[in-house]
Amino acid sequence: MKTVTLIPGDGIGPEIAAAVKKVFEALKVPVVFEEVNAGKAVFEREGTYLPDALFESLERNKIALKGPITTPIGHGFRSLNVELRKKYDLYQNIRPIKPAADLPMKFDDVDMVLFRENTEDLYAGVEEVISENEAHSIKIITRDKSERIIRAAFDYAAANKRRSVTVVTKANIMKATDGLFLDVARDVAKDYDVPMKEILVDNMAMQMVMNPGQFDVIVTENLYGDILSDLGAGLIGGLGMIPGMNKGKDMAIYESVHGSAPDIQGKGIANPTAMLLTSCLMLDDMGEGASAEKIRRAVYDVLSNPDTRTADLGGKLSTEDYVRALIERVGE
Ligand code: NAD
Repeated sequence: MKTVTLIPGDGIGPEIAAAVKKVFEALKVPVVFEEVNAGKAVFEREGTYLPDALFESLERNKIALKGPITTPIGHGFRSLNVELRKKYDLYQNIRPIKPAADLPMKFDDVDMVLFRENTEDLYAGVEEVISENEAHSIKIITRDKSERIIRAAFDYAAANKRRSVTVVTKANIMKATDGLFLDVARDVAKDYDVPMKEILVDNMAMQMVMNPGQFDVIVTENLYGDILSDLGAGLIGGLGMIPGMNKGKDMAIYESVHGSAPDIQGKGIANPTAMLLTSCLMLDDMGEGASAEKIRRAVYDVLSNPDTRTADLGGKLSTEDYVRALIERVGE
């Protein structure tokens, strides 16, 4: 049995975390969850968003499955997600964008893997209020941090025989910062046999909704990666369908792309698929790929049937009924 830190999170987090626990139990996946929460709910109880018990658990287990955390908007709060990613230098944010079921979709050739730099750019949190009427946010791009994410994308593309790596920037306008990211990419690309494509982020957004099949592995900076991965989610059924992970040198936190969805919290209709597919990425990396495949197959079969879809996909099933259908399918 391997121990994994489970952070249920806020909003729909506890509902989708419970779904993962039920599916793992039914499948007898050899994982023990050490549950330590973080976020708004913990703050209201304990006066801190990220309790020490969480850091202790993460540092012990080095691997975590995390639900979404609500980040209060406004002054004085740095995103808790950004804080965790920076503290443990989880520099790779990897998001596979591929349909997990036969759903009505505009395109049938979407198969991308997005590598997003996870520690710098405008998300470094270097902001300054100059006056009541002026505020600055500093964009930080460094050679070392660009190189390691770009290499991770090329290594992945080479190891998985992918067609190309597309580097997304706005180097025509932000010549110093995005220009540096692009220069590094051009240098790194020389070490690989994988073709590199260059594209500006505005054109990328249009191309992704017009002709997504042309893209394979994508590597980009933090902010563009955040936006493009939600756009990618929209191509494959929405935020309830897209998994993700944050990886550093010796720790990984697996979490879906979506947030805490306060608009549907407590209604029992959240789609737990993204969190389940995220747990599959974790299982793959833990050498439990067979369990991951069983879960993916059950998700595919259940969601491909219009009668057993969740509300976000136009279906009628509650979270609980959907999980029941998955467990029945897994047991067959
Ligand atoms: P969101 O992703 O929570 O929701 C966007 C829309 O998608 C909503 O209509 C929501 O109902 C729907 N949706 C999202 N996940 C779904 C699911 N699994 N099943 C069905 N529908 C789903 O984005 P938001 O509303 O902009 O953000 C809400 C909060 O989440 C904010 O506090 C934000 O900071 C936080 N957030 C956290 C993370 C994270 O912890 N990794 C990521 C993004 C946003």
